[in-house]
Amino acid sequence: MTISTLGKLFIVATPIGNRDDISIRALQVLQSVDLILAEDTRHSKRLLDYHCINTKLRACHEHNEEKLIDSIAAQLKGGMDVALISDAGTPLISDPGFVLVRALREQGLEIVAVPGPSAVIAALSIAGLPTDRFYFAGFLPAKSAARRERYGELGLQTCTTAVLESSHRIKASLEDLAQVLGPQRGIAVARELTKKFETVIVGTVAEVLTKIDADPDQLKGEFVVLIAGAEQSASGHEIDPQRLMRVLLQELPLKKAAKLAAELTGMRKNELYDLGLESK
Ligand code: SAM
Repeated sequence: MTISTLGKLFIVATPIGNRDDISIRALQVLQSVDLILAEDTRHSKRLLDYHCINTKLRACHEHNEEKLIDSIAAQLKGGMDVALISDAGTPLISDPGFVLVRALREQGLEIVAVPGPSAVIAALSIAGLPTDRFYFAGFLPAKSAARRERYGELGLQTCTTAVLESSHRIKASLEDLAQVLGPQRGIAVARELTKKFETVIVGTVAEVLTKIDADPDQLKGEFVVLIAGAEQSASGHEIDPQRLMRVLLQELPLKKAAKLAAELTGMRKNELYDLGLESK
């Protein structure tokens, strides 16, 4: 079999809300492939019906992705073209697909990107926080203690950090954020992007929480939270060590906090231990 007879797997981005946010090429690919793998076939069928596409659908989600590898590989080797879509946005970005893509790549099969919407990129493009570098943290842990620990780590980033949140956790998550990084940390909360009730609230965590408290509708829908990067200190260290110790001490014992801070800053552990004692 020559390489040209092999089929391709197309990774196709679909809308994050507005059903018209889909590229002409994405529609052409979805129309022409032999099979579309979709996270939730019923959900995707509505989008495909709207765009008059009647290609065969098959479910591909985190629980069956691994099991699909052999049959999809066989279909591609047999010359069939396949597309992978998720419920919304770009597959693999906090969505299924990584296991399949990695396995098919390992077999030398061709994977083609058909790029388009992604909630995190949409949020970054409109929030007004620096975008020259950013860190995508995906979903945070559901439990508050674990989430706070994660916020403690994320708060050290000097670039903008993006986090995904759902309606039932957004309030608790922002409260944890305020507690760990302080109420003055700058954030942007992008809600329901491309949909009817799209809103972006920008300000300190305290300001954003006040606005959300004043309008309970702001807790509905899907969210991307962007956190402004930690300010660079004038001391020459990328991170202000005193502030770092203060943040870490909210979650860790002094010795452990000093050890972690030493790894992060390259400073001596004893020096950080003393700083920690001062800030207690
Ligand atoms: N792969 C998707 C992408 O590229 O955007 C992300 C999938 S992830 C399972 C779903 C999460 O993305 C939601 O819980 C929410 O945090 C965020 N999200 C999706 N659509 C959104 C929207 N229209 N507005 C704000 N956030 C959204």
